[in-house]
Amino acid sequence: MRKPYTEMDLITFQRKFGTEKACQKRLFSMKWPEGYRCPRCGCTTNYNVESRGLYQCTVCKHQASLTAGTVMHKTRTPLVKWFWAIYLLSTDKRGHSALALSRKLDIGIKCAWTMQHKIRAAMGARDAEYQLAGLIQVDDAFFNGGAGKGGDKRGRGTSKIPVLVMAATRNDAITFAKMEILERVDAGHIQNVIDRHVRPKQSIKSDGLPVFNVVRDMGHTHYPEVVYPKRGTPNYDALKWVNILVSNAKAFILGTYHGVMKKHLQRYLDEFCYRFNRRAWADQGFDRLLLACANAETVTYAELRQ
Ligand SMILES: [Zn+2]
Repeated sequence: MRKPYTEMDLITFQRKFGTEKACQKRLFSMKWPEGYRCPRCGCTTNYNVESRGLYQCTVCKHQASLTAGTVMHKTRTPLVKWFWAIYLLSTDKRGHSALALSRKLDIGIKCAWTMQHKIRAAMGARDAEYQLAGLIQVDDAFFNGGAGKGGDKRGRGTSKIPVLVMAATRNDAITFAKMEILERVDAGHIQNVIDRHVRPKQSIKSDGLPVFNVVRDMGHTHYPEVVYPKRGTPNYDALKWVNILVSNAKAFILGTYHGVMKKHLQRYLDEFCYRFNRRAWADQGFDRLLLACANAETVTYAELRQ
């Protein structure tokens, strides 16, 4: 009997992507699946300026970079290490701390940290292409955000950051999850987030908080549920999937990263949701994440530090 397809083991991965050339070849086939095409004149022949990962058009002499338009653009880290980072991040569902990754890849911790955030940005960009549909459970939740190393000097160690959590369901099972930081928990900000992440005219279930009535004005069918009735026991099941997501996301962030800074929280939430949303395709983790990384604009270290 044939073995079901599983994610590549370490030996196979090393054999396939152990050289810069092999990684370049793979990236090339993702960027130009129908063969090379000059981005300026459309011509299909090129010289390969191999050492620099550049392809020069034979007609107009335009030099196209293999990594332009990918998270690996202008990187000084070899592609081999990038491929390993993508492999490790896609195959271990607990994620990797920057320290753990820097040790495994023999790179500086700043370099590992930056690579991870670039990969997380690609994960977020990928999920941003999907909009939720069906019966969607929506609620606000509060995450801890550290103010920085050792807390804020003025005494504000952590702050509670409101996050809108959205769980699309079908037949009472969860299909897709999204989380986005809310500037404030008010109707305007909730509308803005739902507008970008949910298709028009869906069904939305929330608790009885009046701010959620805004979804009705947006054209959705609204099912407000009283989670804490004046009498009787709380109805925790009303927003079951949202509650499960929130506790899993908090455990993930605390367990792997020991808490995160507020300005980076969104990318960790994106990483959590990305993994969660692909739980059924765990065996294709590397291919999917490489594709996401090959199709996302990079962010710079300076941008990440803002
Ligand atoms: Zn050209």
